[in-house]
Amino acid sequence: MPQSKGFAATDPKTPLAPYSFSRREPGPTELAIDILFCGVCHSDLHMARNEWGQSIYPMVPGHEIVGRVTAAGKEVKKFKAGDIAAVGVIVDSCRHCAPCDRGEEHYCLEGATLTYAAKDRVDGSITMGGYSSNHVVDERFAHTVPANLDLAAVAPLLCAGITTYSPLRHWNVGPGKKVGIVGLGGLGHMGLKFAHSFGAQTIQFTTSLKKKDDAIKLGADEVIVSTDEAQMKKHAGTFDFILDTASAPHALEPYLSLLKQDGTLALVGLPDQPPSVSVFSLITKRASIAGSMIGGMPETQEMLDYCGKNNITADVEVIPIQQINEAFERMLKQDVKYRFVIEMSTLK
Ligand code: NAP
Ligand code: ZN
Ligand code: ZN
Repeated sequence: MPQSKGFAATDPKTPLAPYSFSRREPGPTELAIDILFCGVCHSDLHMARNEWGQSIYPMVPGHEIVGRVTAAGKEVKKFKAGDIAAVGVIVDSCRHCAPCDRGEEHYCLEGATLTYAAKDRVDGSITMGGYSSNHVVDERFAHTVPANLDLAAVAPLLCAGITTYSPLRHWNVGPGKKVGIVGLGGLGHMGLKFAHSFGAQTIQFTTSLKKKDDAIKLGADEVIVSTDEAQMKKHAGTFDFILDTASAPHALEPYLSLLKQDGTLALVGLPDQPPSVSVFSLITKRASIAGSMIGGMPETQEMLDYCGKNNITADVEVIPIQQINEAFERMLKQDVKYRFVIEMSTLK
């Protein structure tokens, strides 16, 4: 069995540390991948520290994976050894329910298999993520990468990219729409790039005054410091759509007050505490609060191809794996520009 080296969390409190494990030989429709880069998502931190109460240890996090195919099973069609392949948040699903048939595997009725800390449908083991040297995955859950893009900067597209691209497409964000992005972190900066690229009037909300100039460079038409009530009030009732990527508990009412009639506040950030909402702020304008999770396999490929055509990637700080615990701490301090990506050769 192929051996894998990685970094794992062994409980919610201990820092991640080196960990060795084995992966299975690739089956007929599977690929073996040597991982080159893996992005560091805030979900990795929530999960490593069991903030959602569903963690399984030891846990090798990581679901923004870019690597090189080292072997492909005999039925594999999309890849051959030597190709670049990318893997995101899910590595399997039932493959026969209605959402799976529609290519919305992330909404699989039987539950999609997460890339780490989930029960593997093939061999019953616990899945191990991308903070590791290599991976084995079915080609349905692997994507091709446009050749013109920088591979380290592509990795975050596999979660931060698709998680923002999908709701912006679903709610028809484009020309003539006034759109807000809450939080300028990994997800937020991708949401900002996409909303701007789709032609919407794009406003960035941030709690970090120091990120203002960056937000403009990344495509914001305007930046609002969300703690400045006067600035918020000026925009009351003017937004068609707001995408909320904030990772920590925060009030939703200030954003609901900014929506137009029939506007939508879509939540993708996953704070460890549920929000509280006054129904009055919804009924008075028929507003919606919605949620969205990553994206299906066809849409993830569509997003990667869109990024290739429009030269869009994440703004990244590449780190050696030995700095992962420090990176987690900096992420908590909102000190990331705008995604950490681990260079996996540093494992050796
Ligand atoms: P991140 O890089 O740490 O960015 C989160 C941003 O949230 C921060 O940069 C900050 O932006 C803002 N924020 C932090 N604390 C805040 C507070 N107390 N009040 C208001 N804003 C605050 O995290 P990420 O990787 O983008 O992930 C964001 C969230 O999305 C996480 O909860 C993650 O688990 C979740 N997620 C969900 C999905 C999905 O499928 N729905 C997929 C991936 C991740 P400013 O400094 O600009 O204020
Ligand atoms: Zn993620
Ligand atoms: Zn299914």
